[in-house]
Amino acid sequence: MKLCFSGNDYKYEIEGVMKLFIPATLFDIVYGDDIPQNGDYAFVRVKELDKHALLYVLCRFKGKTAHKVCSAQHDDDREILLSRLLFKVMSKLTGNVPKWGIITGIRPVKQVNRYLGRNMSDNEIYEAMQNEYLCSKEKCGIALKTARSQKKILDELKPDSFSLYVSIPFCPTRCSYCSFVSQSIEQCLGQIPEYLDNLCREIEYTGHLVSRLGLVLDTVYFGGGTPTTLEAQQLERLMKTIAQSFDLSHLREYTIEAGRPDTITPEKLEMIKQNGCTRISINPQTLSDNVLKKIGRDHTAQQFFNAFEIARQVGFDSINNDIIAGLPTDTAESFANTVDELIHLGAENITVHTLSIKRAARLNRDREKGLLENPADKMVSYATKRLLESGYVPYYLYRQKNMLENLENIGWSKPGKESLYNVYIMEEVQTILAVGAGGSTKLVDTKKKRLERVFNYKFPLEYNKHFGLMLEKKKEIEEFYAQKE
Ligand code: SF4
Repeated sequence: MKLCFSGNDYKYEIEGVMKLFIPATLFDIVYGDDIPQNGDYAFVRVKELDKHALLYVLCRFKGKTAHKVCSAQHDDDREILLSRLLFKVMSKLTGNVPKWGIITGIRPVKQVNRYLGRNMSDNEIYEAMQNEYLCSKEKCGIALKTARSQKKILDELKPDSFSLYVSIPFCPTRCSYCSFVSQSIEQCLGQIPEYLDNLCREIEYTGHLVSRLGLVLDTVYFGGGTPTTLEAQQLERLMKTIAQSFDLSHLREYTIEAGRPDTITPEKLEMIKQNGCTRISINPQTLSDNVLKKIGRDHTAQQFFNAFEIARQVGFDSINNDIIAGLPTDTAESFANTVDELIHLGAENITVHTLSIKRAARLNRDREKGLLENPADKMVSYATKRLLESGYVPYYLYRQKNMLENLENIGWSKPGKESLYNVYIMEEVQTILAVGAGGSTKLVDTKKKRLERVFNYKFPLEYNKHFGLMLEKKKEIEEFYAQKE
């Protein structure tokens, strides 16, 4: 498909809106005043006149054409006006009206926060989100609720606090939809001892660094991968190294992702609880055994229930369960069953993701095979309705590229059980120091509105190989804080 620009170069915005209707597509970009004679296209023109400008969008899609036009004053936001025109034209041609409207960014809550900052009422916010972004009332309502849940958490955030992220990029097997830097344990068994030695060194190094900088450890998060892929003694060594390297007296949350139920044993959960972990994730993704098999997860729904039971017996009172809407071969009925069973089980957090497929080719291939024709939108709406009815509140929300039907991921929580770390990382309001392969340190200075990232090596092999070099790079953290003074 061609995207043609005449008198403007709003490529980024127009491409973003176009992808809402035709995801995972590479567009031909053309500049000039000529309207294409054949094929599908979007022609976007801005014509400057003396006192105003004329904006015009004409699209041809699958043999049908439609257009819209409007005028703009000199100080009007042309990108937004053109995006709205294109959205309306493509909605008409495709019959599809994406519920987030023209909001294409990963954090739709930002727009709502902007309005809340102006003390607007709920009705005024609904109206503004509809008029400005063509956002549906349903999605605006969720964004508004999310913003409200976050406010208390953000208000309690202490300056000079930070979170520690520990990356364990190993899993028992690799799921077919995985977009993380994670390797199956068999592939990299030989690298693990050296990886753990280096990881302990990096934890100690980070401990010294934060005491020099006077930072206070607020939350710890073990992610990956699946941290519980490691043996109990290996995990214990990491947790003890953290306890020796940092002052944990101000710690408010300690999460370990025990994502895959097939990695959970009573011994591991007891050990992590004794060593200070307060919150875990046990993720079924779906409670349909057929779908689990299809996506390459080597466990059954029953193993998930067993793992959950073990976690309760060990005494965990803050458990998260992740599920995914839109998995290949899943149906609206079996997804609804997953949601209902989890609500009945009563985890403190339930996170509803929408399937996102990293590679465009893969998304299209699966679509062609008819594997992704399930109603993700219906699934997400069902989960939203049931979770709200059951007393859960949305507390963080984000979107990724290539998500089915341009939907979102939402973290739901029983009131008061929200994960602080998830809010901080999503809202980019607190420094996150990451250790381990694939970790990305995020340095935040909210006063000066600065955000910088320091990346670790992605894979365990290169992390081990270039470990010394990587520690050198971490000097950037001290430089960042020196500028903060
Ligand atoms: S458990 Fe998560 S990180 Fe591991 S392979 Fe599956 S999707 Fe990837």
